[in-house]
Amino acid sequence: MRALVARGAGQPLAVEDVELPAPGPGEVRVRVRAAGVCHSDLSMVNGTLAAPYPLVLGHEAAGEVVEVGAGVDRVRPGAHVVLNWAPPCRRCWYCGRGEPWLCERAGSPATARGRTSAGEALHVTLGLGALAEEVVVPQEAVIGVPAELPFATAALLGCAVLTGVGAVRRTARVAPGESVAVIGLGGVGLSVVAAARAAGADPVLAVDVSPAKAALAAAAGATDFLLADDALSRAVRDRTGGRGVDHALECVGRGVTIRAAWRAARRGGQVTVVGMGARDDVVQLSALDIFHSARTLRSSVYGSSDPDRDVPELARAVLDGRLDPAALITDRTGLDGAAAAFDRMARGEGARTVVLP
Ligand SMILES: [Zn+2]
Ligand SMILES: [Zn+2]
Repeated sequence: MRALVARGAGQPLAVEDVELPAPGPGEVRVRVRAAGVCHSDLSMVNGTLAAPYPLVLGHEAAGEVVEVGAGVDRVRPGAHVVLNWAPPCRRCWYCGRGEPWLCERAGSPATARGRTSAGEALHVTLGLGALAEEVVVPQEAVIGVPAELPFATAALLGCAVLTGVGAVRRTARVAPGESVAVIGLGGVGLSVVAAARAAGADPVLAVDVSPAKAALAAAAGATDFLLADDALSRAVRDRTGGRGVDHALECVGRGVTIRAAWRAARRGGQVTVVGMGARDDVVQLSALDIFHSARTLRSSVYGSSDPDRDVPELARAVLDGRLDPAALITDRTGLDGAAAAFDRMARGEGARTVVLP
């Protein structure tokens, strides 16, 4: 089958013929019908995260189960599923505490699976490698969704939407009438904007370095669009009675934007880091600032969500018309157009590209 393969940090991406093993006991083979291009995939190829190569990219996807291994009881062939890049073990200390997003066994950046056409050992991103025609995954990594849910929408539920909605509802717990700033308007950031608006936040200040994101922000429900520049802190205060926002959510994963989020929050406000950054990118805060500002700084891993519980709930919300992630999709392409989607994302253009293999 064909898959988008990274050969090394900074090297061009290419669609290659690769081979996956047949599903073993407890595993399923899924034909990928839609896969989003997420910023974490870019982190695997631009050197932000260390990864083994060759590596099949992609971790935000939906598809159809085509084959199941022995002992699979979770789904049958024909089932429509969303892929879960961090299936919890349900046995470790964190899972037992009801924090499956912190599962000790979930979410390793890459897993050995399959071979290239030249016989090299192949790896797949976050246990999935979903920018491909097919994946073979443990049954715990698939979540059944109604067949009437469009695949492109379903794909986004697996990462951008689950993360964005979870960050607002479960991590930050934004309440009606609270003020929110969202920094970084990629797929996740726009999903955070939409979730904040749906939670009744007002104002919802959407912030990005690119003025081209203003229209996308408005479509997602932002009340204001602000440019991320030296005047940002003042612009935020101008719209919040001089105080700063109740909640600042950072959706980039860089020290400089985490600091901007910190400065955008009011005294006693909440700063939630949603973006995943690099090991050597340091955020500097003075000891006096930490004490005096009385702010809370925390991160939101996978939206503090339990995908088995929350993905079906999000699917129902889409089908009921309470949630419309379609606005996040700015491009659709085949596998051969996926590499260009990474270039667009690196330049900060558009929101989500959905690949339809
Ligand atoms: Zn993602
Ligand atoms: Zn666990």
